[in-house]
Amino acid sequence: ACLARIAQVDGKVKAFLCLDEKGALAAAEASDARRKAGSPASPLDGVPIGVKDLFLTEGVPTTAGSRILEGFSPPYDSTVVGLLKKAGLPIVGKLNLDEFAMGSSNESSAYGPTHNPWALDRTPGGSSGGSAAAVAAREVFGALGTDTGGSIRQPAAFTNLVGIKPTYGRVSRYGVIAYASSLDQVGPMARTVPDTAALLQLIAQHDPLDSTSAPVEAPNYSEDLEGGVRGLKLGVPREYFIEGMDPEVEATVRQAMAAYERLGATLVEVSLPHTKYALATYYLLAPAEASSNLARYDGVRYGLRAKDAKGLREMYGQSRDRGFGSEVKHRIMLGTYALSAGYYDAYYVRAQKVRTLIRQDFTKAFEQVDAILSPASPVPPFKLGEKTDNPLSMYLMDVFTLPCNLAGLPGLSLPCGFTKSNLPIGLQILGKPFDEARLLRIARAFE
Ligand code: GLN
Repeated sequence: ACLARIAQVDGKVKAFLCLDEKGALAAAEASDARRKAGSPASPLDGVPIGVKDLFLTEGVPTTAGSRILEGFSPPYDSTVVGLLKKAGLPIVGKLNLDEFAMGSSNESSAYGPTHNPWALDRTPGGSSGGSAAAVAAREVFGALGTDTGGSIRQPAAFTNLVGIKPTYGRVSRYGVIAYASSLDQVGPMARTVPDTAALLQLIAQHDPLDSTSAPVEAPNYSEDLEGGVRGLKLGVPREYFIEGMDPEVEATVRQAMAAYERLGATLVEVSLPHTKYALATYYLLAPAEASSNLARYDGVRYGLRAKDAKGLREMYGQSRDRGFGSEVKHRIMLGTYALSAGYYDAYYVRAQKVRTLIRQDFTKAFEQVDAILSPASPVPPFKLGEKTDNPLSMYLMDVFTLPCNLAGLPGLSLPCGFTKSNLPIGLQILGKPFDEARLLRIARAFE
């Protein structure tokens, strides 16, 4: 049924970069047999899903949305893909994304943008926009994305889905193509909170292959979902209702906050005073780490190679010039500059210090409250092409999502209403480290 639905709608939505029909059907048959024998491998055994094309999948092309990885088929699975297969979920295909996950609209993909199923002339958000669109268009029941500065939560908000970025270290990054290693985290997107919780359960495991994976046992995320919010203190950050924010987004998010009061929670104003530095800090640190991570694409080891180049240096240069798109080049230049001798202390080290201040803001706020509520994005889904000429206006899309990555905290995005023209609006819920279960419970109370 999923394959039929994809054949029917994906020509318009363009969520998939590649399908693995054979692999998915074989997995579905094996799952059928297990179910008939009364021994499913997991509660989600047989449920078809998709994964962002940033996850290595053995024998299935993996591009990271870039020309430089065209024709690359990984020799092994990322840990999370292995866990999903073990749990019996057929992986239907690989989903579009901004090139190397750099973007907020899917428009930096070398393979063309994905369209928002709610309004085809608009972006599904990014960088996990393909993952979001595929689930929202009912092509699959859930998807995995990655979130470095909002790439799960913002596309979830733009397509009326639930998406969670777990605590840094909660889910393994082994075999996930790196963008900014100290910020990247894997997470699920689905139509409901229980679906999201069930997916998270399958991937929230310690992994010795990822040195930053936390040796912390995951609780049962589905067990206490219906516990409600009575007695909880929910923080509303003063700094998160900014000038320039869309009035319909603000009104809808404030209504959702009022609904939580009616459900028995107390709203508490909190202050995160360093929020205004988060964007600048992120756009120094993320490109710096990216410039280092992307050094491995040299035309020798993976994907595209400039075969006509004379000599090694020219081959490196031409392969990278042809293989990387302009946003990626832009960030490699920024990152290399910030890391270079003479500028390292002024930019990179200073940004790391500000990152600590941002983290401390959250630590202080969480002494007063159990979780923090905010909009997921300052605007509803915008038109494709609207922001492509102005990188700064695109970077501004991340103001509410990226402080959470800088602090390493879990964050969830939840559908909370629509604009008058029927565009989805998302509420963001931020939590303490490893407090995903509580975030899911808070989200479920509103659903
Ligand atoms: N939009 C942000 C960026 O371009 C975040 C992307 C992400 O989370 N991968 O870096």
